[in-house]
Amino acid sequence: MSHPVPLNVLPVAQWGLGLERPLLIAGPCSAESEEQVMTTARAIKAAGKAQVFRAGLWKPRTRPGNFEGAGPQGLQWLRRMKEETGLLAITEVATAEHVGACLEAGIDMLWIGARTTPNPFSVQAIADALKGVDIPVLVKNPINPDLQLWIGALERLHRAGLRKLAAVHRGFSWFERTPYRNSPMWEFPIRLKAAHPEVELICDPSHIAGSVDRIGTVAQQALDLGFGGLMVEVHHDPEHARSDADQQMTPAAYAEMLNALIFRAAVPTEGMSDRLAELRDLIDQLDEEIAQKLGTRMDIAERIGDHKRAHNVAILQPERWDSILRRQLRLAQQLGLSADFVRDLMDAIHRESIRRQSSGIGEPASGSPASVDIEREG
Ligand code: PEP
Ligand code: MN
Repeated sequence: MSHPVPLNVLPVAQWGLGLERPLLIAGPCSAESEEQVMTTARAIKAAGKAQVFRAGLWKPRTRPGNFEGAGPQGLQWLRRMKEETGLLAITEVATAEHVGACLEAGIDMLWIGARTTPNPFSVQAIADALKGVDIPVLVKNPINPDLQLWIGALERLHRAGLRKLAAVHRGFSWFERTPYRNSPMWEFPIRLKAAHPEVELICDPSHIAGSVDRIGTVAQQALDLGFGGLMVEVHHDPEHARSDADQQMTPAAYAEMLNALIFRAAVPTEGMSDRLAELRDLIDQLDEEIAQKLGTRMDIAERIGDHKRAHNVAILQPERWDSILRRQLRLAQQLGLSADFVRDLMDAIHRESIRRQSSGIGEPASGSPASVDIEREG
C-alpha cells in the first residue's frame, strides 16, 4: 500500500458547533413522525447523554417494500427538534438532492451510509454538492470489508474542501455467521487509524450488535480502542419502530448504558513518541484479541475431539484440513500476507489443536503425539 498522505482535517472540538470529544450521537434509526422525533429527542435531551440527535429521513432498504423514510417532510421535524431541545441534528445523505435539501433546512451535520460509501459515483456527487460548504460529514464504513473504499470516500470529501470529517465504524457484512448483525472486524478501523491518525473514529455499536443486549459491550470495546465517540440508535418506543426495531434502545436504557461505560482519555497524536505509543497500544490490543481467539479456537477443537470420540470417528480428517488451509491461503492473498507465513502459522495452530483433541484419549498432555500426523485435523 502506498504511504498515506495525511488528510488536513479538524478535530471535533474545532468544528465550531460546541462539540467535544467524546462525540455522542443518539436518535432513532428513522424519523417516523413529528411526534416520534420530538418525544425521543426530549427524552434524550433530558438524559443529558448526547450532543447530537440522529434520524434517517431517506432509508436505504436492502429490499423494496419496507419503510423507506419520511423524506423531506422530516426536515421540518428536525428543525423543530433543534429549536426546542438545543440538540444538533444529523441525518443521512445519499444523493446531491438530499444534500441540497439538508443544507436548505439548516441540518448541522451529515452522514454517508454504508451502502453509499462503496459507490465512488455517489460519494463524488455528494462531495461535488458540498463544495464550498463547511459542514461536518461522517463517513460510515462500506458494507463490505474494503478499507480503500472507506479511505477513498474520505479523500473525495477532503478534495472537495471539507475539513470536518470523521469515520463511523458500523461493522461489515460477512459471509460467515457471527454473533453480530455486522461483524466488527476491529482490524479495519484500526488500520484506518494507523493510516490516518488525524481522522476521528466514531463507533455505531447498534448496527454492529443488531440487538440491544450486545450494544454496551461493543461500545466499550470501541472506547477501549480509542474511538472518539458513539452513534447509537435510540427510540422512545423501540418495539413499534418502523426500521431496525431489535437494535433500538429506549432513552432510559441508553442513559444507563452511557453511565456504565468507561471513557478513556484521548491519546495525543502529535509528535513521534505519542504516535509510537498509540500504534503500540493498537498492537497490544490486537495481540490480546489474537490470543483470545486462539483460546476459543482450541476450546472448540477440544469439543470436536470429544464429539469424534463419542461417534468413533478418527481425529484426522485430511479433506477438512485441506479446505481450511485453502481458505486461509485465499484470505492471506486478499490481506497481503505471505503464503509461507500463513502456512507456518496454521501448522502451529493445527499442532496445538491436534494435541488438545487427542489429550482426552490418554495421549501425553503436552507436545504433539508422535503417532499423530499433524498435517490433518477435522
Ligand atoms: C442507519 O444509520 O440507520 C443506517 C442505515 O446505517 P448503515 O448505513 O450503517 O447501515
Ligand atoms: Mn438503522
